Amino acid sequence: MIKKLEEKVNYCLNCKVKPCSLKGCPLNNNIPSFIQALKKEDYLEAYKILSETTVLPGVCGRICPHEKQCQGSCVRGIKGEPVSIGELEAYVFDKVHELGYHLTDCYKKVEKKDKKVAVIGGGPAGLTCAAFLAKEGIQVTIYEKYDYLGGLLMFGIPNFRLPKEIVEKTVNDILDLGIEVKYSKELGKDFELKDLENQYDAIFLSIGANVSSKMGVEGEELEGVYGGNELLEYNLHPNYKDKKVIVVGGGNVAMDCSRTINKLGAKEVTVVYRRAEEQMPAEKKEIADAKAEGVKFAFQNNIVKILGENKVEKVELIKTQLIKKEGESRLVPVNIENSNYQIDVDYIIMALGSKPQDFVKELGLNLNKWGNIEIDEEYKTSNPKIYSGGDLAGVKGTVAWAANSGREAAKNIRKACINEIKDFDAHM
Ligand code: SF4
Repeated sequence: MIKKLEEKVNYCLNCKVKPCSLKGCPLNNNIPSFIQALKKEDYLEAYKILSETTVLPGVCGRICPHEKQCQGSCVRGIKGEPVSIGELEAYVFDKVHELGYHLTDCYKKVEKKDKKVAVIGGGPAGLTCAAFLAKEGIQVTIYEKYDYLGGLLMFGIPNFRLPKEIVEKTVNDILDLGIEVKYSKELGKDFELKDLENQYDAIFLSIGANVSSKMGVEGEELEGVYGGNELLEYNLHPNYKDKKVIVVGGGNVAMDCSRTINKLGAKEVTVVYRRAEEQMPAEKKEIADAKAEGVKFAFQNNIVKILGENKVEKVELIKTQLIKKEGESRLVPVNIENSNYQIDVDYIIMALGSKPQDFVKELGLNLNKWGNIEIDEEYKTSNPKIYSGGDLAGVKGTVAWAANSGREAAKNIRKACINEIKDFDAHM
């Protein structure tokens, strides 16, 4: 083990109360135990410990907002730096693959059961649900609209943050558990829910919610205004050479868009965010990396309207002040009167959040007030045979939370299908 890594491993106090695991990690990964196995250089054991609760360690180790999740609860972080949990998790994944181990080495072989489940959508929630069902012998078929799996992990997150090779290794590991995939099969186009209902004992619906939300300002329909999610997902960028670009939003999608566009050669990229830097939902590391790469930030600024003949030419901005409002947990940005100003711009990217596709309304399932599929505490929709998770069901928007919904739904599907339940969280 390299010295630097040894220091990082030894830095963990192996706390009995393990807040990193029980409070911070959405998947409740047994963090101190996998770090102890890593300390003994027992890499397969470390991978096995992680695999009790996650099938995405290579991904989550790289892209989770660790400072808000596991590392945010680390006891070491009270007085100093927290343990580098994400880095160690990613190291375990990389090391076991270097040594030739796979997910199949982590789970006991079980007999195939006479139960079939369809998983619609092969993103983090769908892949996790499929894996936690397949490892128990349930026959799983994933219906995927693209000719590859991974969902937003594959093209929604830029390569500099999550190399495609890591996603491919993760997907291959999961499929080796004996999962069938029907590629290029899109719900609502190639098949309907009712087509699958008679063929399967249960369905897990996880097609994501990747339609960028709009601001509702004048000029938003002009050419040159793009949705951040679509831009990253379809990788359909215009030529940014000598162009000035504004990215609106404060989350990781805004950081991914601004950094990607900057790397693609734009003359100037500015992130416009209506609150202050401290309130940005994006991870601190992502903000720091964007700044270091030359992305500019206009905090406490908001877009009033977009101007141009046929395409974007200018944008009118207004400055904001943050005030405390009763009943609001966060400071509320309020426009400062007469602080409007206009600047020249060529492209505007809306990275303000996302919502499900329109056809979701026609699926015959109850929706919540935000337009997401309504689920109960067992991840069951209004149709008792159909479960849902991930962004489509509006679970908290990180990959780890999506994976958690897939794993917990798998637990409940298994309970419903075979009336047998094993504790996934045996360490707790
Ligand atoms: Fe280690 Fe930090 Fe977890 Fe304690 S809280 S076990 S120091 S990672």
